[in-house]
Amino acid sequence: DRKKEVLELSEKSKWVEYRGNLKRQKGERLRLPPWLKTEIPIGKNYNKLKNTLRDLNLTQCPNIGECWGGGEYSTATATIMLMGDTCTRGCRFCSVKTARQPPPLDKNEPYNTAKAIVAWGLDYVVLTSVDRDDLADGGSEHFAQTVSHLKERGPKILVECLTPDFRGDLSAVEIIALSGLDVYAHNVETVRELQRFVRDPRANFDQSLSVLRHAKKVKPSVLTKTSIMLGLGETDDQIQNTLTELREADVDCLTLGQYMQPTKRHLKVEEYVTPEKFAHWEKVGNEMGFVYTASGPLVRSSYKAGEFFLKNLLDKRKSEVKE
Ligand code: SF4
Repeated sequence: DRKKEVLELSEKSKWVEYRGNLKRQKGERLRLPPWLKTEIPIGKNYNKLKNTLRDLNLTQCPNIGECWGGGEYSTATATIMLMGDTCTRGCRFCSVKTARQPPPLDKNEPYNTAKAIVAWGLDYVVLTSVDRDDLADGGSEHFAQTVSHLKERGPKILVECLTPDFRGDLSAVEIIALSGLDVYAHNVETVRELQRFVRDPRANFDQSLSVLRHAKKVKPSVLTKTSIMLGLGETDDQIQNTLTELREADVDCLTLGQYMQPTKRHLKVEEYVTPEKFAHWEKVGNEMGFVYTASGPLVRSSYKAGEFFLKNLLDKRKSEVKE
């Protein structure tokens, strides 16, 4: 382990010496800096999970290799995508398939998903979905049913829902916020000024803020969480203002990570933000009073260290309530 530590340190000192270009000039494509050249660990549990997902016809989140496994943080977590693999929107940073009329929902999905998750023995599960603007309730009932099946069969499993904005339909938000979940997550994705450029035109900053605010209002004990990608051309002032607005909306948890271009047809990376800068934002977030801020080049909106922290926090809160 000592050897590993020394190796990591020497690699990190190389990061500081990196003199490559970090900001994109016109017509240019940036090279990957050393802190992003990591291998994603894929454990044996990953294959086990992948097979079950295939058997059950469930859609897996593209980040599942990173999330699953417990390991270092001894919290077994997974991210499951509900409502299929086809989205009614087309955000310019996201590689999910798009269609105006995706296939209908699988009515058995809430029950089957819950059953599988309980069988895997997970501690923490993130349920997420594509946007389904084609459905009257945006799929909120489907989400809520999954949560209640889950909590019925595995009351100890902590559930986070990472939801769409439901076009600002707060009754849909309410259905999910009151479903028995522990964490309500909805991503604002980027600073206010870049929303139009980065997200589908049907999404916007105020609409997303109203989702987060409403979840907290109808269920104050729920933790709310959001995520921002950096490297899309935002300025420090814009980030600072975004954090201020999120705190004003009573958002509890915040994650900041590097935007990575998924394919050549998607938005280019404007900047590779240094690990030091990410550490700066983590400090700022903590000082501003977020319960939890995770900020780093490889931080994703859902990842193990964060879920480990949230699990401990939620368990602590629950035991305090009992006493
Ligand atoms: S709404 Fe979500 S799933 Fe759909 S394109 Fe945008 S980021 Fe991707």
